[in-house]
Amino acid sequence: MPITPTALAVARAAKGFMPDAEGIALYDAGQAGGRLGPLLEIGTYCGKSAVYLGCAAQDSGTILFTVDHHHGSEENQAGWEHHDPEVVDARSGRMDTLPFFRRTIEDAGLEHAVVGVLGDSPTVGRYWTTPLGFLFIDGGHAEDVAMTDYETWAPHVVAGGVLAVHDVFDDPAAGGQAPLHVWQRAVADGFSPTATTGSLRTLRRQLGARTSGARARSRRRPGGAPRR
Ligand code: SAH
Ligand code: MG
Repeated sequence: MPITPTALAVARAAKGFMPDAEGIALYDAGQAGGRLGPLLEIGTYCGKSAVYLGCAAQDSGTILFTVDHHHGSEENQAGWEHHDPEVVDARSGRMDTLPFFRRTIEDAGLEHAVVGVLGDSPTVGRYWTTPLGFLFIDGGHAEDVAMTDYETWAPHVVAGGVLAVHDVFDDPAAGGQAPLHVWQRAVADGFSPTATTGSLRTLRRQLGARTSGARARSRRRPGGAPRR
């Protein structure tokens, strides 16, 4: 099922960092993963990518959780490359993208399929237990922040599930290297690369891969007992 023209128009009009072709690739990957479980995004900003992923969730009969504290990453703050003064809250002087996100999802008619989770990604992750069919990592791009997002959330991706990483650049001149390092780590951990669209890379967790739960169960098996 292709993404609807209304949703596409809303996604295009929303503030954010997701070119059309990458958004469509995200939608396709989200649909593939959505057959196996809910979708989760780190880095909502104003909801642009959440429209593509919300449509994918809706079309595969699940939902999208999208996690953000809505105060912006380091690179979104005043004086940095990706700053937009329109998203600064006049009262506090801090960034606040939450109202923009709410409007984007409302305009796209996706409130039934998109659940905003307001908070710091590692903090939310500490309490998270739901297995995921799809994970999109597009939060803070500092090395420790991006790697913590991977370490926090990737263990929740089910066997056969999809991992997508944004802003992956081989050439340091084209962009920061943290997302590339996350992608390399995922490959080393057994995720298989499936596609590249612009700076978006998707991977799939091996079918039959053991989840963290399965590893814990196998450790409890008496030593040397034959597998059945
Ligand atoms: N996916 C968006 C862009 C995300 S920009 C789009 O399509 O346009 C990165 C976002 O990550 C910012 O909104 C920032 O607030 C959020 N972020 C950065 N560090 C975070 C953290 N530790 N916890 C939650 N959100 C974080
Ligand atoms: Mg991005």
